[in-house]
Amino acid sequence: MTLPTGVERHEFGGETSIATQGEPVYGERTDGDWRRWDPHRSKLGAMLEQGMETGLEGDETVLYLGAAAGTTVSHVADFGGPTYAVEFAPRPVRELLDAAESRRNLFPLLKDARKPESYAHVVEPVDVVVQDVATRGQARVATLNKQFLTDDGRLLAAIKARSEDVTADPADVFDSVRAELGSEYELLETARLDPYHEDHLGVVARPRE
Ligand code: SAM
Repeated sequence: MTLPTGVERHEFGGETSIATQGEPVYGERTDGDWRRWDPHRSKLGAMLEQGMETGLEGDETVLYLGAAAGTTVSHVADFGGPTYAVEFAPRPVRELLDAAESRRNLFPLLKDARKPESYAHVVEPVDVVVQDVATRGQARVATLNKQFLTDDGRLLAAIKARSEDVTADPADVFDSVRAELGSEYELLETARLDPYHEDHLGVVARPRE
């Protein structure tokens, strides 16, 4: 597995795990210097643990959609460059602001990812869009935010099947999400995130011109 610079494997309580350096955010284990990036709590962490080729090298400019309280985006900011964190629910944003306090490159935005025009004046072109919105219309959110990606940028998305349709077979949901994404993105790799996250699909894609 290729890990970005700033992400390393460390041992926590007898278990080896990916880790980043920064202030703890969600009660994760630390060894004093490094903090465990728990793949059970983070879809991007699961994508890395499963060996998906994310193309992340470290120091990228990132637009993160669905930041919640900052569990994953705090790790991203630990190894990334400027990291714009979009979340539309005010309650988790309060905790996200705490995570941003010790991270000068993490910029929380209380915005709706379906309305990119509301943050287009703030967000610069980015190398990576990370998406974990767990809401209906996940392919559409990725399409709406493609405008922020540089030509050789990457979309790293976690698609939750049950957010699209609770009754459908997840495999069918993933087929239709792949088809919808495919008109705007070239899909480089997709993989299910079980056993870390049931009925989720990890997607690595690059924008079509
Ligand atoms: N990515 C987070 C992490 O790993 O730390 C967990 C994200 S949680 C599964 C999904 C989040 O996306 C929720 O906090 C939800 O409020 C947010 N969300 C859903 N739709 C959104 C939208 N249209 N704009 C912004 N945030 C959205």
